[in-house]
Amino acid sequence: MKRVGVIGGGQLAWMMGDAAKKLGVELVVQTPSKSDPAVAIAQDTVFASIDDAKATELLAQKSDVITFENEFVNLDALSLLTNKGFIFRPKLAALAPLLDKYHQRCYLRDLGLPVPQFFAIDDTENLASKLEHLDFPLVLKSRRHGYDGQGTFIIQDLTSLQQKLSQTANQSQFLIEEFVPFERELAVIAARSVNGEVVIYPVVETQQEQQVCRRVIAPADITPNQIGQSRAIAHTLLNSLEAVGVFGIELFLTVDGKILVNEIAPRTHNSGHFSIDACETSQFEQHLRAVCGLPLGYPTLNCGMAIMVNLLGYENSDSDYQSQRQQLAAIPQATVHWYGKTESRLGRKLGHVTVLLDEYNPEAANHLAHALESIWYPS
Ligand code: ADP
Repeated sequence: MKRVGVIGGGQLAWMMGDAAKKLGVELVVQTPSKSDPAVAIAQDTVFASIDDAKATELLAQKSDVITFENEFVNLDALSLLTNKGFIFRPKLAALAPLLDKYHQRCYLRDLGLPVPQFFAIDDTENLASKLEHLDFPLVLKSRRHGYDGQGTFIIQDLTSLQQKLSQTANQSQFLIEEFVPFERELAVIAARSVNGEVVIYPVVETQQEQQVCRRVIAPADITPNQIGQSRAIAHTLLNSLEAVGVFGIELFLTVDGKILVNEIAPRTHNSGHFSIDACETSQFEQHLRAVCGLPLGYPTLNCGMAIMVNLLGYENSDSDYQSQRQQLAAIPQATVHWYGKTESRLGRKLGHVTVLLDEYNPEAANHLAHALESIWYPS
């Protein structure tokens, strides 16, 4: 496999650039805008929305295999391309149970994996009886197309729930789940090869602010048993989906020490960015290895610990933030990854910084994270 077609041209595709060079692979991307990050590293680009299956056919003609940096695609339309012999990795059937969050929860539950209690809102009468079994706060989620907390609402009482639902023409677009008063959030990146080999990265702690990932601490300070549970979840899931490529798995660690699955991303994931600087094989190289049918690389950490902080937009601006980037880069063992987006908006992922620590020291890592953020965010 020489040419990989990537649906989506954001930072996740952009970060495949270095890995592609290393492996001698060419990337072709499908993305709507000339200013999207991956256009700069792609050998060729199909300029179109990512759910435009006609454009994906063009992408497929230019590529040996198609993969995803964004899963918000039209699977029915893409399945016609499979019939024409084009290869998708992961295959479309591995994405199918995941794109709707309600279907995803059902799939995980049916696999026997631990998930929060949840139900679909099929009709309002049903709702009242189902709510009897749950306490507030609740979480109301858009079943499709939610990301970075958009489409996730924490609802404190029945009045707010009714109000929120009355504002929408189509209530069945939501699912409801129990609010998990988690102790921490964790994530694990796993990859599966064409031959069914699975490798799993160190389990990390993710910290969200306003439901958007702010920082990642690798490895997470959890028990061997919790690591074992997280790894077992990754194995079961990737094997059951017959996945090929990297998948990101978001987890909750409950106050009584249990692991629950929150969400699956059928692609490289923000919680795995630390792997570029901190692991033997980055998640991006691993993904390309898997989709190209190459043997997988080691996911091992090459330092005591790593901390990754997202550089999120905090204003509307077209600045390139040179001075803050230089200050961040001046921190020992820090690497700044700047996605080259031309506009900053509130909450937009503009880049990230990873700092490596020689020793395992969670306290020092937390301290460092706050130091990085005080350079990035205006006080
Ligand atoms: P998205 O797809 O937008 O990332 P998620 O389902 O991952 O949405 O939710 C974003 C964040 O919202 C999570 O990282 C977590 O902090 C919070 N969250 C989501 N679901 C729950 C839940 N059931 N209980 C408590 N917090 C939740």
